[in-house]
Amino acid sequence: MPLPEAFDYAEPEGMGLELGDQVAAPLGPRLLRGVVVGLREAAGGNRPLKPLEALLEEPRLPPGTVEFVQWAARYSVDWPGQPLAIALRGARAPKPRPIRVVESTGALPARPTAARARVLEAAAGGPLTPAELVRAARVGSGVVKALIEEGVLAVRLVEQAARFSPPDPGRPGAALNASQAAAAESLKAMLAEGGFGVALLDGVTGSGKTEVYLEAAAAALAADPAAQVLILLPEIALTQALIARVAERFGAEPGEWHSGVAPPARRRVWEAVAGGDCQIVVGARSALFLPFARLKLIVVDEEHDASFKQEEGFIYHARDLAVARGKIEDAAVVLASATPSLESLRNAEQGRYRWLRLSARHGAAQLPDIALVDLRETAPEPGRWLSPPLVTAMAETFARGEQTLLFLNRRGYAPLVLCKACGERMTAPDTDSWLVEHRYSGRLVCHLTGFSMPKPKACPHCGAHDSLVSIGPGVERVEEEAKTLFPQARVAVFSSDTVFDAREARRMIEAMADGQIDILVATQAAAKGHNFPNLTLVGVVDADLGLRGGDLRAAERTYQLLAQATGRAGRKARPGRALLQTWAPEHAVMQALAGQDRDAFVAAELAEREFAGLPPFGRLAAAIVSGLDPPQLEAFCRVMAQAAPNAAGVEVYGPADAPLGLVRGRRRKRFLVRADRAVDLSAYMATWRARVKPPASVRIAIDIDPYSFL
Ligand code: ADP
Repeated sequence: MPLPEAFDYAEPEGMGLELGDQVAAPLGPRLLRGVVVGLREAAGGNRPLKPLEALLEEPRLPPGTVEFVQWAARYSVDWPGQPLAIALRGARAPKPRPIRVVESTGALPARPTAARARVLEAAAGGPLTPAELVRAARVGSGVVKALIEEGVLAVRLVEQAARFSPPDPGRPGAALNASQAAAAESLKAMLAEGGFGVALLDGVTGSGKTEVYLEAAAAALAADPAAQVLILLPEIALTQALIARVAERFGAEPGEWHSGVAPPARRRVWEAVAGGDCQIVVGARSALFLPFARLKLIVVDEEHDASFKQEEGFIYHARDLAVARGKIEDAAVVLASATPSLESLRNAEQGRYRWLRLSARHGAAQLPDIALVDLRETAPEPGRWLSPPLVTAMAETFARGEQTLLFLNRRGYAPLVLCKACGERMTAPDTDSWLVEHRYSGRLVCHLTGFSMPKPKACPHCGAHDSLVSIGPGVERVEEEAKTLFPQARVAVFSSDTVFDAREARRMIEAMADGQIDILVATQAAAKGHNFPNLTLVGVVDADLGLRGGDLRAAERTYQLLAQATGRAGRKARPGRALLQTWAPEHAVMQALAGQDRDAFVAAELAEREFAGLPPFGRLAAAIVSGLDPPQLEAFCRVMAQAAPNAAGVEVYGPADAPLGLVRGRRRKRFLVRADRAVDLSAYMATWRARVKPPASVRIAIDIDPYSFL
């Protein structure tokens, strides 16, 4: 509930409450689920407290989880109920349905046959599901059915076990090379010291960071047989491959946690984590809120990735919160990346984090050659997006039987549809954004809100027929071009529109790894983390895309994304290369990529940030104020500007119209606050917000360390 703090209740006689218990609490006319965040003797005040209704028969949240939830709310300047709801997501999911098993009753069949004998023999080993029994006895399902009807077999419903098998840290891992071994030793030393500590595992793509942090996980599990380990990944599409690697390394399935996991399975993981049975979790950012009781190690893989930032609802950055949770739990934290965030690099430079570098790929694999294609000199034909040098490289690659990845971080067919008769741009009805054309679905889609409509036959503005033209490329359009250029090649698209769940992602990744695809056109969903042995060419269709629309991290993010995408090439024996199509080959980002000179780029970026007092040298927070009635919103923003507290080392900018001025019918204004590092910016923002009382239709969202400035 959107309440600023926890409420007090009386504990009925004999309830025996403890911190973290889940309870049913009356609030007004309603009965709500709550969590005990503190216990104290009644002060004997004159206000009688309402008694709690009941203690729920649900797992208790461990003290560290309770503390973390409260810390997160304070840090993000939000209601404690927001992070608590995330922490309870698994507790509120439906329980897995019981499964049907059959077992023998001891009765003998009236008419014995060989098939029936095989069924009885298989059933003697213990209860099996009907399907398992059919398979074990190699009979038709009719045989089992008949035996059930006859009373020889009986059906029973059993609860699905919440148990996970314990991981075995003693199983041998990969034989580490010298730099991997040194990094693993350093992580083990950090774990052996015990307590909180952070390491930055900074290794080029393909250097084998995963093997290193799995060694650290093994060490944590060997030192404490009840230890729990959390591995966070930025994309659901990456979880499947890592789950397979973890299962192989430790001989036990880890728990899987992300929005694509079905609610009953989520409940199973949640309960097993709370009960300590599930010791390794591989998940997306919200896994950080699971009720771990003995968390010893948190790994944030691809720590630089902006997907770790949750932008809606409860706004948080999972990497930053992982460090905070590590501190609360006295756990070790490993941040892994080939292109670490400037924040983490700065912390490593300053000695706050251990800095472990892996500078070469594992084994014979080499980093790809990266070349720039200057589109001013070799532009594609009008209406085409692949330049002659890239097409030539694709042809060579295809002729050698190797694979190409074309990277374009834009879903759909075309980012803009306009009327060539009147110039009207197709925009969303209630949001400031262009509608993106999707050919597979035949719809125009707003990528911000999900609004969509069929593509009209006539311009809705001037009524001209067949006048709507598609401007610019998305992955679907590049796929079309690749198919035209290489009719014999097998071409596929990987984006969140074509690959919408973890299973489909796994299928697509296996098909690519297996060589069933020649040319993969992909958004960032497929451009990071994966190992495709036969992929030797990466073509970046529009390297400049992320540099437009200046925001604080535009250059940093473009560098990271393109280094990741190009890093997919040549990860095994065959050498790889990458071609970046750009209109600005002289840009520092392009030069750093082509020259493989990350350190110079990072140094230049850091110098600029330091000069401007921006993160990681200063702090930023945003307040996004939105409302339905523009004059009322304007008036409130003026009041809010007046109410900004005066504090040393803090500057408040705004209100300004947000670049995305209208979202879902709400007008938006923004304030930006810059502060020196020493300032407690969360406290500042909380004080500010407490000073104003927005009208009912106005909302304030506070974003500590914003990644989006829209
Ligand atoms: P990163 O995460 O650093 O990009 P990975 O951990 O995915 O790299 O490793 C890249 C590839 O090299 C993988 O296929 C992995 O199995 C292989 N690899 C890494 N280290 C070893 C090792 N010590 N022995 C054998 N194979 C390794």
